[in-house]
Amino acid sequence: MAVFTSDNGARAQVLKGVRRLVVKVGSNLLREAPGERTEQLVAQLLEVRARGVEVILVTSGAIPLGMTILGKRRRPRELARIQGLSALGQGYLMRFYENACDSRGAHCAQLLLTAADLRDRERNVRVADCLRALLEEGILPIVNENDSVCVEEIKIGDNDTLAAMVATMMGAQLTVLMTTVDAFHAMGKDGSFGERFSVVTSLDKGLLAMAGATDGNPYSTGGMMTKLHAASICTAGGYAMAILDGRDFGTLPRFLDGEDIGTLFCQTEARKTMGSWQRFLAFFSEPVGAMVVDDGARDALLHENRSLLPGGVLGVSGVFRKGEPVRILDARRQEIGRGIANFSSEELLRICGERSTRLAALLGHPVESPEAVHKDYLVLR
Ligand code: GLU
Repeated sequence: MAVFTSDNGARAQVLKGVRRLVVKVGSNLLREAPGERTEQLVAQLLEVRARGVEVILVTSGAIPLGMTILGKRRRPRELARIQGLSALGQGYLMRFYENACDSRGAHCAQLLLTAADLRDRERNVRVADCLRALLEEGILPIVNENDSVCVEEIKIGDNDTLAAMVATMMGAQLTVLMTTVDAFHAMGKDGSFGERFSVVTSLDKGLLAMAGATDGNPYSTGGMMTKLHAASICTAGGYAMAILDGRDFGTLPRFLDGEDIGTLFCQTEARKTMGSWQRFLAFFSEPVGAMVVDDGARDALLHENRSLLPGGVLGVSGVFRKGEPVRILDARRQEIGRGIANFSSEELLRICGERSTRLAALLGHPVESPEAVHKDYLVLR
C-alpha cells in the first residue's frame, strides 16, 4: 500500500502546478444553513481565485434542499419524486450562490450535466468550451448533475464522480472533495478509525476495503467509496485529488498553502497528462465495438508508441463506423486500450492482416491514412 501518514513532499509538488481547480461540496455541508454556508464557501472560492487559480464548483444539495422546502423528512423512493425535488431545490440552491456572488461583486453560472453529455464527443467538447468561456470571463461555473432528466442509463449517480469527470475533461490539475470528515483514515478490523492518510500514491484492494467498510457508518457520510473512485479517475488522467474537511471551508486556502491536512491522492512518478482526445477515450467514450490485435501489434502499441496498422488486426467484433470509439483487445481478448477507428468494421474486415500498400486496391478507393487507429487517437491501459 503506498500511503503516507504525513506529507512526503507531494503537496508542494502538486500545488506548484495548480492553475485550475475543481471543488466539490457534498449535500451535508449545505443542508443545515444553506444561505450561510454558501456565503462562507463562495468567500473562500473567490479568495482562491484571487491567487490566480481558476475555480469550477461542483455542488450537491438540490434534492435535500427540495425536501427542506416541502418539509419532507424522508427521501421519497419514487424516481420521479426525487427528480421533482431536485428540480425544485436546484433553483433555490442557485439563488443562494447568486446572492453570495452578487454581494461580492462576482458572477456565477449554472451547468446541469448528465453522463450522456460527457460521453458524446461533440457535446463533451461543447461543454468544455462553455466552461472555458465562463472561466475566461471570470465567472464561477457551478455544476450539478441534471437529476430531473437522469434516467438510469445516463446517470452519473454521485457528484464525486461528476467532479472527477469535469476535472479530467477540463484538465484541472487538482480536484478537492469537501466533505463531513477531515480525511481518509486507516481503519482497524473492529471498525475503529486509525491514523489519517496524508498522501496516497496508489489505490489497492486494502484501501478499497477500508473505504467499503465505512458504508453505513455515521462517520462516513461522505461515502469514501465514491471518493476513491473519483481519485482513481483523476490520478489515471495524471491529476491529483484531495479529500478535505468541508465543515469549515477555510481548510481550502490552508490546504492550498501546503498545510498537511486532508488526504492527497496523486501519482508518484511524473505521468504524462493526456491530450483531450485521450481523456475523452479513457473516461467518457462508450466503445461500440472492438479490434482484436496480434501479439506483434500489441507489443508495438504497448512498448513502442506506435499506431495500429490493419496488418496487426486479427479481426473485429461489433459494428462500428469510421470515427467511432472501439476497444482494442489482444489475442487473449484482454482490453489493452481504446481508440478511434479509422475504418468501419466492414472495411476493416476486408483489410485486416494486409500490408498498408494494398489497402486502396482492396477497398477500391484511395486511403489517406493507413492506420486502423492512429496513435494520437489511442489510449492504452
Ligand atoms: N445531484 C444531487 C443533488 O443535487 C447530489 C448527488 C450527490 O450528492 O452525489 O442533490
